[in-house]
Amino acid sequence: MENKGKIGVTTENIFPVIKKFLYSDHEIFLRELVANAVDADQKMKALAEAGDFALPLDGLNVRIELDEAAKMLKITDNGIGMTEEEVDKYINQIAFSSAGEFLEKYKDQIGSIIGHFGLGFYSAFMVAKKVTIDTLSWKDGAKAVHWSCDGSPEYEMTEGDKKERGTTITLFIDEEESEFATKGRIQSLLDKYCKFMPVPVIFGKQQEWKDGKYVDTDKDNVINTIEPIWAKKPSELQKEDYDKFYKALYPMAEDPLFYIHLNVDYPFHLTGILYFPKIKDKIEVRKDKIQLYCNQMFVTDSVDNIVPDFLTLLHGVIDSPDIPLNVSRSYLQSDANVKKISGYITKKVADRLEDIFKNDRAELENKWDNLKLFIEYGMLSDEKFCERAMKFCLLKNTDGKYFSIDDYKAAVEPVQTDKDKKLVLLYATDTQSQYSFIEAAKNKGYDVLWLDCQLDSYFVNLLEGKIENCSIVRVDADSIDKLIRKEEEAKVDMSEAERTDLDILFQAVLPSENQYYVQPVKLGEQGDAVLITQSEFMRRYREMSALGGGMNFYGEMPASYNINVNVDNPLVAKVLSEKAAAVSPAEVVADAAKDASEEDKKAVQEKKDAAAASHKQALQDFAKGNDLLAQLCDLALLAGGMLKGKALADFISRSRKVVEDAYL
Ligand code: ADP
Repeated sequence: MENKGKIGVTTENIFPVIKKFLYSDHEIFLRELVANAVDADQKMKALAEAGDFALPLDGLNVRIELDEAAKMLKITDNGIGMTEEEVDKYINQIAFSSAGEFLEKYKDQIGSIIGHFGLGFYSAFMVAKKVTIDTLSWKDGAKAVHWSCDGSPEYEMTEGDKKERGTTITLFIDEEESEFATKGRIQSLLDKYCKFMPVPVIFGKQQEWKDGKYVDTDKDNVINTIEPIWAKKPSELQKEDYDKFYKALYPMAEDPLFYIHLNVDYPFHLTGILYFPKIKDKIEVRKDKIQLYCNQMFVTDSVDNIVPDFLTLLHGVIDSPDIPLNVSRSYLQSDANVKKISGYITKKVADRLEDIFKNDRAELENKWDNLKLFIEYGMLSDEKFCERAMKFCLLKNTDGKYFSIDDYKAAVEPVQTDKDKKLVLLYATDTQSQYSFIEAAKNKGYDVLWLDCQLDSYFVNLLEGKIENCSIVRVDADSIDKLIRKEEEAKVDMSEAERTDLDILFQAVLPSENQYYVQPVKLGEQGDAVLITQSEFMRRYREMSALGGGMNFYGEMPASYNINVNVDNPLVAKVLSEKAAAVSPAEVVADAAKDASEEDKKAVQEKKDAAAASHKQALQDFAKGNDLLAQLCDLALLAGGMLKGKALADFISRSRKVVEDAYL
């Protein structure tokens, strides 16, 4: 049987073409060849099970051998093998023509191809200058076949000398690809792609440390020792099995919070196990990712276009033969199966969380802080998930108690509804620096939520949209009476000139790096003298822009605060009366006559400006020399956690004097 021929490829120089285009993914050749070998073993098993062939089945395996010096890599199975006709049909015609078709079909978009297509046997030529096949079919009386091809479209087929059933593919690795002739590289590729294949994949022998070096033992080095438990039925597994499997997948990760076993046959096939990892406060660089398999063969850990973005925070494996892999990434998103799969996974995740919410509330509360970021991210990015999550999403208050959204609403509605029948929810982001505001709210009988996570400014926006007639404000956004207005606001009786004076006084003593809006308010005699607040709107948008929400306009503005000066407070009244005594009102300069000359008008304006400037100067001098004013401002800054550096040191030395005056 001597047979020379031309492989049925349309493009003459297809080898260099494919090497160039598929450069980044050369490594998949090994997965493809091992997959073929595993298939051949599986077919053998099926034949035996159908009674067509009797063999001791426990011996089925795939062996990989590497001769580093000769740059020769062998993949040997003891599966069904091929007859001469089969090599001709499957290798010479099908394998090669399908490679040709593939190139023809995708030549325009080959750069964006996902790179996980099943080029199969052909991909051997991405790394080898020559490939040989030695095969012996299981069929009675079959003759061994030797096939060889040196990378040109010419092949040679002769009778072979293989004695055992099965196939050996031998690759003579190209000089340029010599990384694939190193033990370390092959071991890591097998670990990556073949960890869960369904028949033992063996690469050399296990080694042991002896007399100062590693030596082979007589035990096979089996790559796939971990059982792919996702292929089993959930009813056959215990929690420990899932935990053990997680550790095997991600040896360095902390224990997961929950798991979900996916198992669906219709309208697509999908199995898998997803784990909720402990997610800390920040969205960490995701080192541990969901792994995608196709019939237990690793495909990729980049599942970005297959599951919704927020689910990529999860860990675990998904196995589906129904995800098209030989398509471009942009096509993947629009694929009907992929859409269904993504919808199915989202639903399963929501089902599981709802189930825990209903049946194991304590567990959910226990783990909520580590789960929250994931759920908020999901709610913000996936409308369907958000709808479901409104039921099981928890809110935590500053006392560390958890509520469902509905329960929380019902609990605070009676007290936190304002005069316009609007529900006002209060929250704090830092229980330390916002302590005095939280206390003020609690003293009124209000509850304060604790929202300290990165996404919370977005989450607050979302909740406001979802809860009807509701606003959500941070406790320090205004004085508590203004945050939840129960009655009309008391009007402050002050002239325009007095308001301007008030502004100048406070601006003179407040730290210069921020912007302040000074406003007189009436908070009662017992109310704080000065209260520094930050508008909810401004603060929230600044935070969102800092997170990269595309609202740069707000991010670029300096932080601005409202300085609420309580004119009812006797200390404020004292400052104002001291000011009245020390600084005479601004000189009133009469307007120039309407028909005055331009020159006269200019002179009058200059006189006015000078009067205003000297009044301002007098006010500033007074303010800077007034310890009481400084003390009131500093107390307000201190309450807001904003008193720092020199201002803090000045405050302390001033306070020391006050204490000495009072007690010595
Ligand atoms: P695919 O695996 O996608 O069918 P391949 O090009 O990898 O495409 O292989 C073509 C065919 O060659 C296979 O379908 C199989 O029939 C045959 N084949 C390849 N490798 C082996 C093997 N190790 N043992 C038996 N048959 C094989």
